[in-house]
Amino acid sequence: MRPARALINLQALRHNYRVARQLCADKALAVVKADAYGHGAVHCALALHDIADGFAVACLDEALELREAGVTLPILLLEGFFDPDELQLIVAHDLWCVIHADWQLEALERAALLRPLTVWLKMDSGMHRVGFFPREYQAAWQRLQVCSNVATVVLMSHFSQADELHSARTQEQYQIFTDVVTGMQAPISLCNSPALLAWPSIRSDWSRPGIILYGSQPVAMHGVSVEKLQPVMTLQSKIISVRELSAGEPVGYGAQYVSEQPVRVGIVAMGYADGYPRHAPTGTPVAVDGRMTQILGRVSMDMLAVDLTGLKQAGVGSSVELWGAIVSVDEVATRAGTISYELLCNVKRVRYEYSAYDSLKNTIA
Ligand SMILES: *Cc1c(COP(=O)(O)O)cnc(C)c1O
Repeated sequence: MRPARALINLQALRHNYRVARQLCADKALAVVKADAYGHGAVHCALALHDIADGFAVACLDEALELREAGVTLPILLLEGFFDPDELQLIVAHDLWCVIHADWQLEALERAALLRPLTVWLKMDSGMHRVGFFPREYQAAWQRLQVCSNVATVVLMSHFSQADELHSARTQEQYQIFTDVVTGMQAPISLCNSPALLAWPSIRSDWSRPGIILYGSQPVAMHGVSVEKLQPVMTLQSKIISVRELSAGEPVGYGAQYVSEQPVRVGIVAMGYADGYPRHAPTGTPVAVDGRMTQILGRVSMDMLAVDLTGLKQAGVGSSVELWGAIVSVDEVATRAGTISYELLCNVKRVRYEYSAYDSLKNTIA
């Protein structure tokens, strides 16, 4: 069998959720959209079920997959419904629903629902993607107050630059939001992962951590001391071929790398069809048998080359970590000109293996 695998450490996932929970000091919806950022939403949600306050996903299909797997905790639809027809299923499966646009509000008012819903009313405080403008928000809130299809309202917004420590934008958005919601008696939800890490003064009743649950750290922590995040996914494969090349020999498509000295090259069963980024250049770190080295030349669809020159023991069958506990996915993403989110979401074709976890272990204070 092809040795490309994604090992998913569910104990690390639980640890990271607890770190997120400690950072926000209140309730946290574990964001498991996009198949839990490529980690497997059902496995991840079940592994968090006894410690999470709830989950967040991007759409009804993702929520139904979790319900069918036995997830009974609250599940929030981050973009609400895309078609008013979905409202009946949202009620039937007891889902929480973001309302971010006028057309959704109208559909909600018109619907005949068996039970009233928990609605998260989204404000566009500056991201300018979805949500009601600050000047429209009060009116939307009033309409929800008198709508018989609404049981509970949570006030929410989303930051666009929380990962930029020197930008004033997050504080500005926070101020805009706070000015509008003052006096509204409802819980508030603001922080994604970068906001939890970088803006400890901004707290809300419900946080929405995503990427930190998977052990990637998109931004430095700001003077807060918390347990370190643990990488959840190890993307690994094996060396399937080794060749010694003299100086001046090209490796891979387009001769993007040409040896300057004699090199020992290992070929790994991992390529961009597995989700490893084709834009990762020569020099991107990789670990062979636990030791750091680098990739050489262009990544192909099913294979890539690594430098074994300094690794005398390594050979066919040696284990290769593309990212995980030794090679940070954040570092690979930076080299490839992208972010960890995209790399993790894009993993495919490889075999997934899930570690067991102990629900009593790994409790952090
Ligand atoms: C995806 C998403 C999150 C999680 O973001 P991270 O940066 O992964 O923590 C939070 N809130 C909303 C609205 C999202 O769409």
